[in-house]
Formats: sequence, structure tokens, C-alpha cells
Amino acid sequence: MMSSTNSIHPLLWSTATTLGNEAFAKVTSSKILLVGSGGIGCELLKNLALSGFKDVQVIDLDTIDVSNLNRQFLFRSQHVGKSKCLVATAASADMAPVPVNYVPHHGNVKSQKFNVSFFKQFDAVLNALDNVDARRHVNRLCLASDIPLIEAGTTGYLGQTTVISRGATECYECQPKPTRKVYPICTIRSTPSQPVHCIVWAKELFTLMFYHGDPKDKSMLYEDEENVEESTYMDAVVRRRPKSNNEIAKYVKDTLVALYITEVQKQIDMDKYKGSKNPPKPLNLSEIEAGLLLDIQGAPSNAFKKRDYQSNVWTVSQCVAQILSCTSAYYESCKFSSKLMQEFDKDDGVAMDFVTAASNLRAHIFGIENKSLHDAKGIAGNIVPAIATTNAIVAGLQVLELFKILKHKDSNDASNENLKQYIKEHCRYTYCLRDKTRKGYYLLPTKLPSPSDECFVCRKASLTIIINTKEFSLKDLLDKVIKKRLGFNEPTIMIGGEDGSIIYEEGDGADETFIVNLPKKLAQLPCGGLIDGSSFAVEDFTQDMEVEMIVTHRDEWDEKKEPDGFIIVGGNDKMAAAARAGASKEGNVESKKANGNGSHDNGVTERNPKRPNSEDIDSSSVPAQNLADEQPPSKKLKIDNVEEVDGSNDNEIIEIE
Ligand SMILES: [Zn+2]
Repeated sequence: MMSSTNSIHPLLWSTATTLGNEAFAKVTSSKILLVGSGGIGCELLKNLALSGFKDVQVIDLDTIDVSNLNRQFLFRSQHVGKSKCLVATAASADMAPVPVNYVPHHGNVKSQKFNVSFFKQFDAVLNALDNVDARRHVNRLCLASDIPLIEAGTTGYLGQTTVISRGATECYECQPKPTRKVYPICTIRSTPSQPVHCIVWAKELFTLMFYHGDPKDKSMLYEDEENVEESTYMDAVVRRRPKSNNEIAKYVKDTLVALYITEVQKQIDMDKYKGSKNPPKPLNLSEIEAGLLLDIQGAPSNAFKKRDYQSNVWTVSQCVAQILSCTSAYYESCKFSSKLMQEFDKDDGVAMDFVTAASNLRAHIFGIENKSLHDAKGIAGNIVPAIATTNAIVAGLQVLELFKILKHKDSNDASNENLKQYIKEHCRYTYCLRDKTRKGYYLLPTKLPSPSDECFVCRKASLTIIINTKEFSLKDLLDKVIKKRLGFNEPTIMIGGEDGSIIYEEGDGADETFIVNLPKKLAQLPCGGLIDGSSFAVEDFTQDMEVEMIVTHRDEWDEKKEPDGFIIVGGNDKMAAAARAGASKEGNVESKKANGNGSHDNGVTERNPKRPNSEDIDSSSVPAQNLADEQPPSKKLKIDNVEEVDGSNDNEIIEIE
């Protein structure tokens, strides 16, 4: 062993010794595609560089934002505004102990040049993406090119890693996805347009005001003094905190004036909102003063303790009074100690009162709908921050799966059947948990699930669509169903199945005369139209994908319960028949689950989120003496929490990037 490791760089000895020389040689000669160079992608590139990978290509279309710097550690402040994949490949290549060939592709993975033949040159693909849309696209390309895909995602403290291999394992789309959204920091800071933007801002303000210590890395509203364009509120909020009870009212007044009058006016004066349809209007000093008096006179105790305290939207004065009262409560509870008061917790009544009041004042300024405490709590409870440690853990797990795959890849096995069999048996779907299991594990490896027979992507199962064919237009079908729900990129639609007549197509050289069909109702389309019992096919060459869809017409739709106006049922005839019989009931579940297609998603909980049965637990990876003793984690995985949130209008998890 020693003689052959002599030619290996000392920093790579441990990897070479662990894997064995033969497998290590496969690592150094392998060719890897990494999609995404953000939170997980930076960790992956560092891992690849320090494990001896020499040939890596990276696709990412993002540029570096200042808010990435706290966890995407290949980036420094001088890189803000530059291409993520360019900076990340250069930084990781510098880190590599041996010369490497790391190639960045600054662009969209959905673009035509990253097609099946591009994918086929790689030994494996690593996903480090943050949205469902791109994940589905890469999933399809990996299936089409039959390259193993190592997928990962995180949400706060939760994360997971899995391996997808065509025909051997479940693909990314075998299970429906929950919804998730990410808001860019500039929206939060200066151009909010929805209540949730104001609530995210108010949570950051809460930390800025009450975190005793340096709020530098704690609040995204924090700006240090060197910042060229420091906001006018920093001084009032952070540097002039009250030292006694007498100072609290003055502190609150100064803070509110700085946040809701001076800073807003400054931004207006800088022409920040020039041409905006709905420019902000700062609060009046008299409104703030009235609110402060309201508290001093003890009125809010009457006004706020009423039964509709939770469900009513508070007035501006009531919000001001609430902020004063919450601030007093916090300073009273900590007795002006230097310790951290509390991190925001939606179940802490005072914190939630504060966030509701502060967000509504901001919403008032920007002409955004105000929210009751009850509704604000539902929204605030779903906000999950990205955590660097979780990203590092899942990226580490991805590289371990990659080692396994490369080690067992046999260049003589053209069909890769042996490798597929190996992946199915030995690769793992690993959950990264927030709370340890009773046996003390934070990582839970489980067997990879088999492909779902109902999957239209990897099993080419046909789908049934239940729809009002007299009301739904081809454009609706294209936008809402084919692109948004089913994730097609450049679809061709054919009536009468795959050998039928084309009624619409997109992409290079597409016949534009088909555009005339877009406004037509489905029943009025050419070639007999789409009516009850007819079928159509959708094909996409960019994804090497096609699906056959059978139409079931239904007249009556309940707009509240079925806002999509269509239901899609996957799989075999039995399911489709059941769906036709009880369309309404079945369809609600389906449409709710799959609502998130196309939205941002860090990838957690894409599988059945319930903890796997003990049979699923991998006994070789979990060194437990008695697996039956294993208990579920004390907290359920995130999707369960999300489903339990009350007051939220939808199942969205909100993330801040
Ligand atoms: Zn599938």
C-alpha cells in the first residue's frame, strides 16, 4: 500500500487508503457534473477538491449576493455580483492539492446545450439545487441519459440525500412535492409587496432590537458602520438601546421614527421608488405619538384583551402601542442583562405580538394588506432559515454515495445493470434529523424506494386529467398543466396520442401557426378537439420525455376547493377509474400536494415524509442492536409541521436566501 500511495499527494492519502487504490483511481479519473453552486454546491465542490476529483463541471446561473456570504463560504465580499459557478470553481480548484480541471457553465440548466448527450459524458451527477423546476429537469435528463443522480436538499435543520438510478430506484418525481418559496433579500429590505415580506422583515427587526450582543450575523437588517449606505435606523435601533425603564418609551419612539418615517423618506428622496405604481408613504409622527399615549394610558389592556384580539386587524395606533408594550416586557424580563434575550419563536406570545405589529406598520406604509395576529402567526411559523451546517452534512453524505457508485462502476458493463443492482441494494436515502432518535442518531439511512408504477416520468405511466373541456383553453392547459404542474420545458402537444396530429409545439424550428390554437377551448380544438374520453400526448425533446394523457370531462367545479380547475391522476386504470368515480375527493388531495410545482424548493420532504418503518432502516448503517427499539424522532419531519400550521392559507414553507 505504501509504495503505491507514494505517488499520491499526502493530503489525499487518507481518501486513497480508505477507498483502496483501485477505487481511488476511479475517483481521480471520474468525470462529475455538479448542478448548482450555492449553499450545498459550495460544500460539494470543497469536498470534491479535497477528495481527489480532478474533472468536474458546474452549472449555475446565479450571481453572488451579500446574503450568501454567511454560509456559501467559497465566496468573499469582493465576489458580490459575480457568477457563482465561476468563483466557486476557481476557489475550489485553488483548494485542491493536485492540478484539476474544474469547468464552470454560467447558465440555465434548462437551456438546450445541456442536453442528453451533454449529460452522457459524466459518470454521475450531483444536484445542489434550490427549486423543484430545475430538479425535475435534471431528474429527467439523468433518466434519459441513464446517469446516476445524487440528489440532496435542506430546510433549516432538516436535510436529506438520495440516489436516483433509472429503473432501479424511485425518481425525483415518483412522489408529489410540497410547496416552498424563497424571497430575495432586496425584496425584504426595500420593496415588499406581500404581507409575508413584511413579516419576514419584522422577524429580522425583532432580532435586531432584542438580541443583546452583536446582531451582526443574526439579523439580515444589520449593517455595520463601514457600509457606504448605512440605513438611518441603525443608530436608533442598535446603538442607543435603553439602559433603564425610563428610557424605554424614548427608545421605542426614536426607533419607530427612524424605521417608519426617516428611512422610508430617505429611500423616497433617493428616487428608489420612482415610477413605482404604489410608492410607500411614511407614517405621520402624530400617529406614532398617539399610539405611544395609548399604551401609557393603559388603554390597550382593554382594547387588546377583547375576544377578537387574535382575529382583528389592529389599527396603526394599536400597533405602535403593542410595540411599546412588547419592548417594555422584554426589557423587564431580562432586567437589562447583557445576555441574549430570546430568539424569535412564533409560540412566544410577546414575540408574535411584536412581529404582527411591526409587520403591519410596514405593510401600512407600502399599501399592503394588514394581517391579524392569527394570520401573521400562520405565516411566520413557516419561515425557515438556511443553515450552513445542514448543507455541509448533506453534501458530505452525497460524496459518500458518490464514492460507493464510482467504486462499483465497471467500464466493461455497458448496460450498467450490475451498478444499478448495487445502487438499489447499497446506496441509501439518508434523513438528517433535527432531534436525535432514541438511540442517539441524527442521521437515518433507509433503503432506496423502488420506482412508483404510477410515475409518468420514470415509468411512462399515462395520466388522466379531469377538466371542464368547454371552459379550459389550450393556453390554460399549456401553462397551468403541462408546464407548471408537469414540468415540461418545450412541449409538443398531439391530439390522439403519440402518432396523432400536432396542435401545438415549442422550441427551435417550431411551427408558429399553431399559436392560433392557444385561445381555443379544449373541446373546440382541431382534429375533433379534447372531449370526454379523448387522449393527447405531450413530448419534449429537451427532456427526452413524453406522456400520454386521457381526458375526463366534468362540468361542475368548486372554485374554493379546487382553485386549479383540474385534477390529474397518475398511473393505472384502476386509479383513474376510482378518480373518475370520486373525482372531487381524490382530486383535492392530489391538487393540494402537487401545488408546489415550479416553486422554490430546497428539496426536503420530497418523499413520503413519515418516518420509514423499521424494516426500511438500513441495518448495516445503523449500528443498533435491536432495530425494533428504534423510535421515531421526537419531532416529526417538517412537512407534518407545515400541514399542522393554522392560519396559513396554503402549505408554503418560506425560506430566506
Ligand atoms: Zn419516477
